[in-house]
Amino acid sequence: MAELLYKSTRGGESGVLASQAILKGLADDGGLFVPERIPALSMTMEEISGLSYQETAYVVMKEFLTDFTEEELRSCVSHAYDSKFDTGLIAPVREAGGAYYLELFHGPTIAFKDMALSILPHLMVTAAKKNRVSNEIVILTATSGDTGKAALAGFAGVPGTRIIVFYPKDGVSPIQKRQMVTQQGENTLVVGIHGNFDDAQSGVKAMFGDRKLAEELARSGFQFSSANSINIGRLVPQIVYYVYAYGQLLKNGAITAGEEINVTVPTGNFGNILAAYYAKLAGVPIGKLLCASNENKVLFDFFRTGIYDRNREFILTSSPSMDILVSSNLERLIYRIAGDDGARDASLMKSLTETGVYEISGEMREKLEDFYGGYATEEETAGEIRALYERAGYIVDPHTAVASFVYRKYREASGDGRKTVIASTASPYKFTKSVMKAIDPKYDGMEDLALVDVLAGLSGVPVPGAIEEIRHAPVLHRTVCETGEMEKVVKEFLRIS
Ligand SMILES: *Cc1c(COP(=O)(O)O)cnc(C)c1O
Repeated sequence: MAELLYKSTRGGESGVLASQAILKGLADDGGLFVPERIPALSMTMEEISGLSYQETAYVVMKEFLTDFTEEELRSCVSHAYDSKFDTGLIAPVREAGGAYYLELFHGPTIAFKDMALSILPHLMVTAAKKNRVSNEIVILTATSGDTGKAALAGFAGVPGTRIIVFYPKDGVSPIQKRQMVTQQGENTLVVGIHGNFDDAQSGVKAMFGDRKLAEELARSGFQFSSANSINIGRLVPQIVYYVYAYGQLLKNGAITAGEEINVTVPTGNFGNILAAYYAKLAGVPIGKLLCASNENKVLFDFFRTGIYDRNREFILTSSPSMDILVSSNLERLIYRIAGDDGARDASLMKSLTETGVYEISGEMREKLEDFYGGYATEEETAGEIRALYERAGYIVDPHTAVASFVYRKYREASGDGRKTVIASTASPYKFTKSVMKAIDPKYDGMEDLALVDVLAGLSGVPVPGAIEEIRHAPVLHRTVCETGEMEKVVKEFLRIS
């Protein structure tokens, strides 16, 4: 089979094996790794519709990660998508109110980042072995809440890895904090810092860039790596569920072979929707990709005007994982519509860093016709949660509601009647307060955990294990430090002095 190699979006690196790209995360020139071409799937969609999630994952990933052997990939897949998920379907599709909700929240932290973060540790350890890296991999992360827990759950107990998560001690929600400090696993460390998220992030960045520290680590058999969303080891596993969703619709008779569907994705960093685009390019019959934003609608404006402008007020919304002004994965799309011109991409990204703005050419804009940008205000998001509950008895979280609203609005405006898959990125149990308040204002003022049983009663969906756990699990992590002590804490955990 032909090897698929990776190159940087900024033109400075090429000929990189998939396993090396996973180990490195970011290219040396600061660009993101992209495959030299998007491979076609080796099976028809009808054949794929007969496969389990795990088999689909193998069929898709083998085309993108060509230097992994069949045995290696199958082992990664079976370690990732197992009983950590509360349904054997892993990513079930649920019809409600005329649309198809692709539930990506059945993993250990009941949000979609589990889909990639449960396999990334296994891909990394395998990549390390293949490249004769004998050091233990130490994942360093700064988190404002969600990613930290999903990464902890993914790396906990994986031999050959350690994970250290720093969070702002007073800057995450009570549920998020409990989720993290109750994390089990000898190889995990959770540290609250006296500072905000930016302090945590700067501290982690400083450690990544510290050569002397890297040498000290290497002498003790460790090396740092990052689990952030630009790693192709996170992107590739996300392509799988779009392929699987199409297969499920085919299998259930909702569509016929070859029929085009649309996909709507609640978007923040642009990783999830980019995976849907790659699925389309790999041969899944997908028509439009609807990019749904909340009130931080940088992407909506970009698709409308061709101007990306991050210079605006940052708005805190009920869909916090989409409160983002710089969508890092968009760079991969920019590179593609620039005709794979690394110099062009690099100059646009330079402009973004220096001025907060860039504008693409008319020629580039024409290549964006597969995408449609939409957004929902806070009021529209709450209205969508209520309407869907009242019409279909189905309860969605605020992120999914943003997408659901954008889908309905697009459909009315365009008359495009294609069946639509909506990426459902979090369980409503993760955001009980916003969800219950949207359904009935009488719940306003009640706390998240107090509303869990009310939600269970209304939705008929059993309380997920992840929520039961934080109600009862003991606190295992009590480390707290000053921002200046982060390196010391890392060294103590690794027993380096
Ligand atoms: C991370 C996240 C998103 C945004 O996904 P991107 O890949 O960053 O666009 C949407 N919803 C939820 C619940 C998330 O956790």
